[in-house]
Amino acid sequence: MTTINGVSMSLKDYLLLPGYTDEHCAMANVSLKTKLCMKNNDYLYLEIPFISAAMQAVTGIQMAIALAQFGGTGVIPVSQGIEEQCMKVEQVKRYKAGFQTNLITFSGNDTIKNLIQVIQKTGYTIFPVTDTGVFHGKLTGIITDKDFDPRYDQELHIRDRMRTDIQYGTEITDLKEANKIMIRYGRGFLPVVSREGTLQSVVFKHDLDKHILHPEALVDEKKRLCIGAAITTHPEDRERAKELVKNQVDFLLIDASHGHSVYQAEMLTWLKQEFSVPVIAGNVVTKEGFLMLAELGADAVKIGMGIGSGCITQNVKATGRGQATAIMEIAAARDDFAQKRHYIPLIADGSINTTADIAIALALGADTVMMGNFFARFTEGNSRIIRTRRGKIYKEYWMEGSKRAHNNRRYNSNRDTFFEEGISGYVSYLGSLYDYLPEYKNKIKSALSTAGVSTIDELHKKAVLESISYGAKVDRHVHNMTSRRM
Ligand code: IMP
Repeated sequence: MTTINGVSMSLKDYLLLPGYTDEHCAMANVSLKTKLCMKNNDYLYLEIPFISAAMQAVTGIQMAIALAQFGGTGVIPVSQGIEEQCMKVEQVKRYKAGFQTNLITFSGNDTIKNLIQVIQKTGYTIFPVTDTGVFHGKLTGIITDKDFDPRYDQELHIRDRMRTDIQYGTEITDLKEANKIMIRYGRGFLPVVSREGTLQSVVFKHDLDKHILHPEALVDEKKRLCIGAAITTHPEDRERAKELVKNQVDFLLIDASHGHSVYQAEMLTWLKQEFSVPVIAGNVVTKEGFLMLAELGADAVKIGMGIGSGCITQNVKATGRGQATAIMEIAAARDDFAQKRHYIPLIADGSINTTADIAIALALGADTVMMGNFFARFTEGNSRIIRTRRGKIYKEYWMEGSKRAHNNRRYNSNRDTFFEEGISGYVSYLGSLYDYLPEYKNKIKSALSTAGVSTIDELHKKAVLESISYGAKVDRHVHNMTSRRM
């Protein structure tokens, strides 16, 4: 038995000391761009250090889209069927694109009835028509939901109603050029064909609008939003990983409450042999855990055990660690590893409930933060809104180790050995993430500016943190007065 003579510290036990603020770190010059994970020989960068947790109540399609548009990212949880999880990945990736190459396409011989069914099922409204009916056939027309009358035209063929006076571009590979031509034609879309007239791609104006609105969006090389998905360490999830990669997920995350295990090692090794897609591993809270994952090729490592907002692990098993202590120890091990090999980004996961917590986690050495409770409060969170009789509004929030989530595999248990490691409950509803996120960004930028740094990398090097006493904790919150609600 070993006892450690230190104290396990929380993020709430530290304050960030001010540094010298000059022009280089004035708020306007602060960048929150940061490394999410290694990718090929470089890194996948986020514009903001935010990741929404791989939890049922947090990350669905809307949350993943919202965060990716701001330059963060979401992780679709593992606690659902493979098909459902892949469908969500696909929906996020379809939300916006540059050159779209996988549109549903019709032939002139198809019926309007068939077209109506597809519109009802998918919600899409613009379809290319080709001689063969497949995407790379010769472009013969375009049909949209405005070109027919569903009351009278059901028995007609698409060729009877499609438009053939199509304005298109030929052999265009530059998105800016395609957008210019589309705007010149005054159309909502532009088909791009080869010299022989076969359809190559379609560019949509609404994608351009989305880009103008969110220039910092996290996009892949085809300008589609990026998205991650979780798998567990269980061997049956190899099939899940294959399907997710087929659906072009941008990164995989091994979701385990205790990542320093033989199961994690086996899954990580297999994933790295099988795919080139980045793999985030975890969770760990010790340097030994980090080093195992680093040696096995993890592209980022996630930190946190027993400290999530609705987590009861430390009460039922006494396992876990204060989040600040875990980050500090692992960040030191990571920096050491970087001297000899390469830099592995760290994700702080759990107990990050305010922008102050975020600032401390980053200052201690995390490159990004994963948050459940924080994001569950928004409209885009993947749970129901509840209104009480007194008019208060909440959102449901339940942990992955609760009975409700039924995510046994994250906790390495089965139906016979299962016990809860998290609760199910509510969080106060705030509104739409689109309204709040810009303010959060500014608060974190301001923290960096006051610390005298202009980037998260610089913060890692220069941050000075001090632990605070009970009295100082009292002082940091509003005291000796109550706030007036305006
Ligand atoms: P929060 O942001 O403080 O709410 O913590 C969210 C994190 O808690 C997740 O990203 C998971 O790592 C972790 N977590 C999720 N469900 C459970 C659980 O049931 N028990 C313990 N930890 C959990």
